[in-house]
Amino acid sequence: MAATLLDGNKIANEIRAEVAAEVRTLSAAGVRPGLAVILVGNNPASEIYVRGKVKSSEEVGIYSERLTPAENITTDELLELVLELNHREEIDGILVQLPLPPQVDSKKILMAVDPAKDVDGFHPVNVGFLSTQRSGLVPCTPAGIIEILKRSGIPIAGQEAVVVGRSDIVGKPVAMLLINGSKKILMAVDPAKDVDGFHPVNVGFLSTQRSGLVPCTPAGIIEILKRSGIPIAGQEAVVVGRSDIVGKPVAMLLINRNATVTVCHSKTRDLPGVCRRADILVAAIGRAGMITRDFVKPGATVIDVGMNKVTDPAEFQRLFAGNAKREETFRLKGSTLGGDVHPEVAEVAGAITPVPGGVGPLTIAMLMSNTVKAAKLRRGSRVPELSRA
Ligand code: NDP
Repeated sequence: MAATLLDGNKIANEIRAEVAAEVRTLSAAGVRPGLAVILVGNNPASEIYVRGKVKSSEEVGIYSERLTPAENITTDELLELVLELNHREEIDGILVQLPLPPQVDSKKILMAVDPAKDVDGFHPVNVGFLSTQRSGLVPCTPAGIIEILKRSGIPIAGQEAVVVGRSDIVGKPVAMLLINGSKKILMAVDPAKDVDGFHPVNVGFLSTQRSGLVPCTPAGIIEILKRSGIPIAGQEAVVVGRSDIVGKPVAMLLINRNATVTVCHSKTRDLPGVCRRADILVAAIGRAGMITRDFVKPGATVIDVGMNKVTDPAEFQRLFAGNAKREETFRLKGSTLGGDVHPEVAEVAGAITPVPGGVGPLTIAMLMSNTVKAAKLRRGSRVPELSRA
């Protein structure tokens, strides 16, 4: 059977027509959106891209400006240009065409773009907004891929999606868009003091591998693996759960450490089958003993994040029958703390974290570590005696 052609030109035309209508409405209200495109030097491919972007802006009614500094521009000179554009009222979007010449510090330039004008969606603040599902600017190619799927009626929910590539520009953001569907958390805490590592700014720093505050439980999981000599690079890791607190950040940390990562959730088809592929299985679900032996490949490393208060006697029997110590606790207290992994998994796994006494203590240890890191990061070079290697 011949494949249906997903016509990018047709879909892009639909979107452009919708955008043009919005521009007309905004212009009638006295607001004409403006885009500044910075093209450094004479890279032929970049010139073609920029020409297309400027032409398209004109077609939809967006005011556009093309700035073309010479190939030998310095980082400081380019920074000055970006800062000037950040302050200009009639410029709503700033696009720095990549690649920049080798003498220019590209990361520094992209970080300098006002996140509110970062129409490429590459700034860590927008990366964090994307990951935590807040309103922000989403990178154009990943957003386009989702539009192609959506507008062609191709279902996403419950499907198995494989993304080959993990760049900040395509791979990671498209994976995040495909995973998304969880709840939101507060962002009032100053990111520099956010020792929980949940603020979108820190989420964006984590995703783009910059120095920031990493959520404690995911950071603790990596410490357990590293300090137990369990290899991560090249391993197949499966994370069950996609919360902003555990699932997503631990998936990102594992990707950044060169594992091949699958993220599962309540809409995943054949969960046991997917879990059985794992060399490293992380269970962050919140359902006592859900991961039974048939979810686990013999010899796999199993990290049990779950902390569930088990009070139902039948559930207690299913999980802990024959465990004298647990029976004693249950009789005395009427409850016991159980993980997401059934105790029988210890018979097939190569390594496993207990509950209690596994991930939990690491969460607290990493909170201590984050507090010291925050103290150092906030004071920068002012306290060199604090900076350990
Ligand atoms: P959330 O409730 O925010 O997320 C649970 C995730 O599990 C969701 O992504 C959900 O999918 C998925 N899930 C729920 N049911 C199923 C199912 N039947 N099949 C597949 N996936 C499912 O929980 P958290 O991430 O905050 O916490 C997870 C567990 O870890 C909890 O037990 C919590 O107490 C514990 N925890 C332990 C810590 C520690 O220090 N040890 C620290 C933090 C958490 P969907 O998104 O589709 O709803």
